[in-house]
Amino acid sequence: MLTQLKDQLVAGSSEEYLQKLFDKIEHSSLNAFTTLAKDSALARAREFDRKPWQGLLAGIPIAIKECISTQGIETTCSSKILKGYVPPYDAHVVERLKAEGAIVMGKTNMDEFAMGTSTETSCFGPTRNPWDLGTVPGGSSGGSAAAVAGGEAPCALGSDTGGSVRCPASFCGIVGLKPTYGLVSRYGLIAYANSLEQIGPLTNTVEDTALLMEIIAGHDWRDTTSAEKGSYIPGLKNGIRGLKIGIPKEYFGEGVDKKVEKAIWDAISTLESLGAAWKEVSLPHTRYALAAYYVIAMSEASSNLARFDGLRYGLRKDEDQDWHTTYSEIRAEGFGPEVKRRILLGTYALSAGYYGRYYLKALKVRTLIKDDFLRAFNDVDIIAGPTMPIPAFRIGERINDPLSLYLADVFTVPINLAGVPAVSLPCGFSGRLPIGLQLIGKHFQEDLLLRAAHAFEEATPFHLKRPEAV
Ligand code: GLN
Repeated sequence: MLTQLKDQLVAGSSEEYLQKLFDKIEHSSLNAFTTLAKDSALARAREFDRKPWQGLLAGIPIAIKECISTQGIETTCSSKILKGYVPPYDAHVVERLKAEGAIVMGKTNMDEFAMGTSTETSCFGPTRNPWDLGTVPGGSSGGSAAAVAGGEAPCALGSDTGGSVRCPASFCGIVGLKPTYGLVSRYGLIAYANSLEQIGPLTNTVEDTALLMEIIAGHDWRDTTSAEKGSYIPGLKNGIRGLKIGIPKEYFGEGVDKKVEKAIWDAISTLESLGAAWKEVSLPHTRYALAAYYVIAMSEASSNLARFDGLRYGLRKDEDQDWHTTYSEIRAEGFGPEVKRRILLGTYALSAGYYGRYYLKALKVRTLIKDDFLRAFNDVDIIAGPTMPIPAFRIGERINDPLSLYLADVFTVPINLAGVPAVSLPCGFSGRLPIGLQLIGKHFQEDLLLRAAHAFEEATPFHLKRPEAV
């Protein structure tokens, strides 16, 4: 789709296309965007129309999540504490996109500091799901997903610490990939829990995701955990004859919506009809994943967020007070309740006396979870199951019950703990709400994962349906 769009823009006008998107966004009720980079984007599009340049994304607009640094465009992580912060540099992924000719059209809404599953904790207010405006788009990259699903951006980037690309992809009926830990540089991504998170694409088709991965993946000296990339487009259409798929028995049953379960089994039959074979596998430590994830993520968050002191960037206080008072007042005012809750819990889990009981224990569980995946992958090539146990829920339904929100991440967080890649793609509907199929791969085998996803997409109509609400 992006490849066709590129040809259309060369033949037609990038400026006209972009202007149409901006008009749509301005009349939209989705609240997917936080800041529009109208002037710079339109100027760039005009340049392109005058003399089209080469590049994998030449002339194509892209929406970028609020927590990814963009030079000259306000980047707040949807938090009051970073209001007014304009990064002086681009994240590595943004540099790469620009080098391939893409045009940054604006920033998208998210849960504050990427902490959430619904995009309701943003200081810009909640984003709405284009399939049903009364429901959440998922989170935390809900703005990016709603923008793509609602036709307000042809593609977008999100970040995934425990499901934040895959959950909104699932709730909004589009494709979202969490790459292997280390495949995409985190330089310029404002950290929430840096041992877990990766930047990933949100797109209409698997091919578009593969194209974005060709651009954003790969080693960057500024992120020492980053690795060399593979190649994702060439083998994409090779089919899945002989592929062995594992179905984890722990991913079905209690807590999983019946319609979701049925859609996943139908998807497995489709994959079988395309020449794959499936068998049951076990990931026995799945039930400890949420507890381990939240201890680790909150511990890292408490450390990463200590830098927001109101002195260097964002919210300021000019009264003449001692440093300690200023620091506490700014943080009390600048952070929302969910962020505060996590800083407190994370600080507690890391404190002397409790460190061994919580943080260290969680790290041990993390290793057991990774071992579960490695063991399963001795027998199978990929693993399949639901992305989310439920379809999108109503705005306001869970926000005052944090545990019920955390529970919704049960199938996404194990993937981040293990560092393996996983993609969510549309596989059915519950009423008008989309359902997402999650395919999980071995470390650095995005090529095989995307090939399986592409074969499924080609054989099914779900990605072709568009929401009526917008
Ligand atoms: N819902 C999870 C959390 O709140 C995941 C968020 C994310 O991936 N950024 O931590």
